[in-house]
Order: sequence, then C-alpha cells, then structure tokens
Amino acid sequence: MNTIQVRTSSRDEMMDITRKVQQAVEESGVQEGIVYIMSAHTTAGITINENADPDVKTDMLQRLADVYPWEDPKDRHMEGNTAAHLKTSTTGASQVVIISGGRLVLGTWQGIYFCEFDGPRSRNVHVKILHG
Ligand code: ZN
Repeated sequence: MNTIQVRTSSRDEMMDITRKVQQAVEESGVQEGIVYIMSAHTTAGITINENADPDVKTDMLQRLADVYPWEDPKDRHMEGNTAAHLKTSTTGASQVVIISGGRLVLGTWQGIYFCEFDGPRSRNVHVKILHG
C-alpha cells in the first residue's frame, strides 16, 4: 500500500490527485490491474469528475454547500462539522480505477479528486494497486 500525503489550503476544496495516483501506478510496475484510492478521513472524500473546466469544481462545491449549510441549529455533533461529514458520505471515501498498459483508464475529461470538506489540513490518501 502507498500513502499519498496532501495538504489542503481551504475548508472546501477539490484537489486533482490524478498525476500522483498515476505516479504510484508507474512505481508499482503494474501494467494491468486496478487501483483502489481511499481517503482515510471522515471529512474528506474521493471522487472522479471533470478536470477540464475549473468552474465545475467551484459549482460542485457551491451546490454541496447549498445542500449542506455549515451551520444548522438542529445539528448535535459537538465538533460542529456535520456538513463536512455529510459531504464526505455524498462523494464517498474511495474510488476504483482500471489500469491498462500501465496507465489509469479514465475518460478524456475525467480526473481523480481529493475532496476536502473541513480544511485546511494535512491528509492521507491510501492507494492499493492490484495486478490482474
Ligand atoms: Zn466531526
């Protein structure tokens, strides 16, 4: 297992980690298989989405904030970050990507994103590469 360390710079952020995952695949030497990418956190997820127009990231984060406002008087969680937990469950904690010819198999406009929902923080993304 590899661990990719990321440092986020704002409370909500989508960080493109595609290149780092591809680098881990190359270092493994695996040509055919799958890579499992997992956020080891309850307030940060992993998703795959558009990497062409940066406005997509901005809009996605805004829409998530619309659905899950940071403060809700009904929240009971003492840490005060229930919105971050909800956003993380919405994106999911992990993704699986096929490896073929030593490359990640992604669509033309797809990238792998680490989704920070309670930053800025130092975070760990675990990567498990399986040959097959
Ligand atoms: Zn919490």
